[in-house]
Amino acid sequence: DLAPVRRALLSVSDKTGLIELGRALSERSVELVSTGGSAKTLREAGLDVRDVVEITGFPEMMDGRVKTLHPMVHGGLLALRDKDEHVTAMTKHGIGPIDLLVVNLYPFEETVAKGTDYDTCIENIDIGGPAMIRAAAKNHAFVSVVVDVEDYQPLLAELDAHDGQTTYAFRQNLALTAYARTGAYDAAVSSWMANALAQETPRRRAFAGKLAQGLRYGENPHQTAAFYTDGSARPGVATAAQVQGKELSYNNINDTDAAFELVSEFRPEDGPACAIIKHANPCGVARGDSLREAYMRAFDCDRTSAFGGIIALNRALDAATAEEIAQIFTEVVIAPGADDAAREVFAKKKNLRLLTTEGLANPTEAALMIKQVSGGYLVQDKDNGALDPHDLKVVTKRKPTDQEMTDMLFAWRVAKHVKSNAIVYVKDGATVGVGAGQMSRVDSCRIAARKAEDMAKELGLDHPLTQGSVVASDAFFPFADGLLTAAEAGASAVIQPGGSMRDDDVIAAANEAGLAMVLTGMRHFRH
Ligand code: 5GP
Repeated sequence: DLAPVRRALLSVSDKTGLIELGRALSERSVELVSTGGSAKTLREAGLDVRDVVEITGFPEMMDGRVKTLHPMVHGGLLALRDKDEHVTAMTKHGIGPIDLLVVNLYPFEETVAKGTDYDTCIENIDIGGPAMIRAAAKNHAFVSVVVDVEDYQPLLAELDAHDGQTTYAFRQNLALTAYARTGAYDAAVSSWMANALAQETPRRRAFAGKLAQGLRYGENPHQTAAFYTDGSARPGVATAAQVQGKELSYNNINDTDAAFELVSEFRPEDGPACAIIKHANPCGVARGDSLREAYMRAFDCDRTSAFGGIIALNRALDAATAEEIAQIFTEVVIAPGADDAAREVFAKKKNLRLLTTEGLANPTEAALMIKQVSGGYLVQDKDNGALDPHDLKVVTKRKPTDQEMTDMLFAWRVAKHVKSNAIVYVKDGATVGVGAGQMSRVDSCRIAARKAEDMAKELGLDHPLTQGSVVASDAFFPFADGLLTAAEAGASAVIQPGGSMRDDDVIAAANEAGLAMVLTGMRHFRH
C-alpha cells in the first residue's frame, strides 16, 4: 500500500512554510510543479520548479479564475496507476502523474470576517483549488493531498519513514482532512451568501465550522469533544481573548456562552449588570449603581449555586469587582474588557479563567441555532425577539406601578435565558428567585419561591426575598395555580405571554389576589 511521491503540485495562498517544504521535497528528489505566485516564491528561494502553464499549455487567465482547471492537471491527479485504460490514456495524452498535491485555498473565510464587499468576497471563492483537492482526495489510493500547513512536517516524516513513499492509511487520513476542508469551505460560502442576501434562512444553506480546539473531554470525562467556530466576528465566547486561567472545558464554553448572551441583554446605557450562570441557567442576575454592586446583588440571589459559577459582566471588569469575585471559587469571568488593576487582582488566582470580548453581543441580531437529535439536526432562527413596551397589554384592574413595570421588563429579559419552564422573580433590578427547567410551571414557581425563602434565612431577613417582587413566566400559565403560588410568595405583579385557553381564569385569579398583570404576546421557550 506504499505509493511513491515523485512529482508534487504546490498551489497555496498562504505561503507559510512553502519554501521549507519545497526545499525538503527537492532534497528528496521530488519534482516541483507550481502555480504563479507559489512558483515565484519557490523560484526566488533558488528552487527548481516547473510552471503549471508549461504543463497545461494554457496561460493562467481571467484574474486567476482559470489556472489549473485542465485535463493535464486533473488527469494527473485522478488517473488510477494500476488500471490499463488509465495508464494508456496518460501515455496517449502525455499526462504525467501528480503524486502529491499541496493546496491551501483562497482565504474566503478571512475575507468575509474582515467585512469585505460583495464582489471581493466573490473573487475569493477558490474554484480550481477545491477541484484539485477533491480529485486528489478521491484518488487517495495513489495520491497524497495536503491542505493544511500543519501537515507539512508529518508529510516529510512519513516520506522519511518509508523511503520517499506514503502508506495507504496516511493518505486516507489526508483525504479525510481534505474533504472536511472543502466541505467547510463551501458551507462558509453558503452561510456568507445567506447572510449577504439577508436570508439567514434555515431552509437553504449548509453548515460547517472550523476546528478551533480539541477539548479535554465533553460533558463527561468519557466523551471526547472539540470546539468548532463558524467564523463569525460576533463578540462572544468563540471570539473572546483568554487573559488567564486553565483551558476552557466543554461545559465552561457552554455556560460562558449562556452567561454572555444573557448579560448582553443589558446594554451599556442600562447601567452595570451581572449574570451568574450554573449549568446554563442563571442563578443570579442584577443591575447595580456600580459593577461591584451588580455582582453582589446577583450573588445574593442564590449564594449556594453561585459557587463555582460563570460570571458575565456588561462592562469592563474593574478592581473593586474583581476583589469581590475573588472571594469565592468561580470558574470563568467574561466581560468586555478588564482594566490593569482588575487583571492584577485576578493574576493571584491562577486557575480563574478570564475572558475579554470586544463589546457585547447584539441580542436582536439574526442568527441560526442548531440542535442535534438522533438522525438529524433541528435548525431555527435564534430567539432574538425583543419586547416593544407598547405591545404590552395590562389585563388586570390594577395597573402596574412604574417600579413594577421596570422590574417586569428586567425579569422578562432574564426569563428568555432560563430553560423552560422558566419562572423569574425580580425585585429592584435583581433576581430574587429563579425556577428553571421543570416539567410543570407550578413547580418552577414553587422552587423559585422556596429558594428565595432559603436565601432570606441565610441573609438573616425575616421575610422571603420574593416579598414585593414581580414575576415573569416564559410561557402562559395554563392554570391559575402557578400564579397563586407567586402571589403567596409575595409577588405583586406578573408578566407573561398570555394565550392560554384559561386566560380568563388566570386573569380573574390575578384580580382576586390584587395583582397587576401584563401580557407580552410573545413566548420565550428555551430547551
Ligand atoms: P498562486 O499564489 O500560486 O498564484 O495561487 C495559489 C492559489 O490559487 C491557491 O489558493 C489555489 O487553491 C488557487 N488555484 C489554483 N488553481 C486555481 C484555478 O484554476 N482557479 C482558481 N480560482 N483558483 C485556483
